[in-house]
Amino acid sequence: MTCPYCRSGNAEGALVCASCGRDIAVPATLIAERDDLLRKRDELRDELKRARDEVEAFMKRRHAR
Ligand SMILES: [Zn+2]
Repeated sequence: MTCPYCRSGNAEGALVCASCGRDIAVPATLIAERDDLLRKRDELRDELKRARDEVEAFMKRRHAR
């Protein structure tokens, strides 16, 4: 894995960077949580788009009269 701080390569599963010594371990639970949050964000984005389309359609209908 690549160190996010100094960009040097490290062995897979390394806890600290061999080059700069910073903590680079990311628990699997955090990665899973992040994936879950990204999925929820996408779902909310779709929902927001649908809501906007509905409002737009509603406004157009009002103006048509
Ligand atoms: Zn580093």
